[in-house]
Amino acid sequence: MPPDEEKVAPTSIDIFDQSLASEDVEIDPAANAFQYPPPPSESGNPYRVKLVRGQKGWMQYPGKNGKPGYLATDIECRIVAPDNEAIDGKPLFENFASTMVMQSTRTSRIAGILKAIYETRGQGETIPAHTSHLELSRKLQEEFDREAEVGVWIQWTGFCDVCSSPEKRVEVRGEKRFPPNADGTGHLSEMEHKPCGSIITAQARITRYIGLK
Ligand SMILES: [Zn+2]
Repeated sequence: MPPDEEKVAPTSIDIFDQSLASEDVEIDPAANAFQYPPPPSESGNPYRVKLVRGQKGWMQYPGKNGKPGYLATDIECRIVAPDNEAIDGKPLFENFASTMVMQSTRTSRIAGILKAIYETRGQGETIPAHTSHLELSRKLQEEFDREAEVGVWIQWTGFCDVCSSPEKRVEVRGEKRFPPNADGTGHLSEMEHKPCGSIITAQARITRYIGLK
């Protein structure tokens, strides 16, 4: 954190006190302070990204009979697009990638990410069939350390906190379901959720990781 952003206790003041000094600031009068810029467009899929471990880092979940279970981490995926200044370096966030083996696919999200990294690197590396939660996690951490590149597909996803319940999460998925922007070049990141009237904000959710040549 830069020193000028250090948290210090605020003081209560009289803003009409003539002896007060103030710092000048520049603002954009046309900007909307209540609307976040939209996520990168789905039309740019797949995006090439560099992987870095997220802020939360590695977490271990309890397994059966008190044994250690699967491991999970968050990931920051920084877009690599040197010819597109508007998105180059912009982060996409993966909130939860784990080594839990899903019954439907008989593999894990982290194994899938490693496979896509290895395909992108093109050096013939493969993921082991017999492995452990810890081994897979360490392999992924090595890729974070070298900022490995991989392809990702994103989907705009907005979540309605009014209509959702602990049993059912109510989401709007897909950029095309959000309203077009003024000049028709893309979509706005916010929309009214018709059933309840509250505002839904789109975030770019990473749906899958793919090998890029
Ligand atoms: Zn709603």
